Amino acid sequence: MSKKKIGRKAITQPVKHNIAKITEPIKAAKVHFDFSDNRWLCSVRKGEYTNFLKDAEQCLKTHYNLFYTIIPKVLDEWDRIKTGFGTRQYPHCHKIEGKQRELVLEVYKELYNYELGEEVSLYQLSFTGANRLIVIYGAAKETIKPIFIDHHHQIYPSIKHNQKDLSSYNYCIVCSHK
Ligand SMILES: [Zn+2]
Repeated sequence: MSKKKIGRKAITQPVKHNIAKITEPIKAAKVHFDFSDNRWLCSVRKGEYTNFLKDAEQCLKTHYNLFYTIIPKVLDEWDRIKTGFGTRQYPHCHKIEGKQRELVLEVYKELYNYELGEEVSLYQLSFTGANRLIVIYGAAKETIKPIFIDHHHQIYPSIKHNQKDLSSYNYCIVCSHK
């Protein structure tokens, strides 16, 4: 039996974390995430649409962006984001409407086996990186419920960034750990 290796080399020194010190009192977040349904982490294929990943490494990168950047930034800057949807400061944070909404509804139905109603407000949230978090936003209770991750920004594709052939991608973080 070979020894279990951690990463590529043995760790001899503790990693120095480059984390800023807190200088202000911690503010209460103005919006809340509802993670009660864990199916939002799963990958799905519907027609041309897919959010399956290439492999575990790509998966790690995209989830790092999600949990290290997107979610904390949404919580921290929500007041500014919700008054600046789609502006230059927040170009990837906005409501999903029209044919993009239709696509999200189809993907949702495939993943959850349930149809969302007309009253539901759908939004995408992202800053840097290729992935977009697709959510239901309930303004009355200031709640954000993630419904799936658009890992390859296929809901709003761009010619510049959507050149890869995704048909061979088949990695799902949920199914690969079941
Ligand atoms: Zn899955």
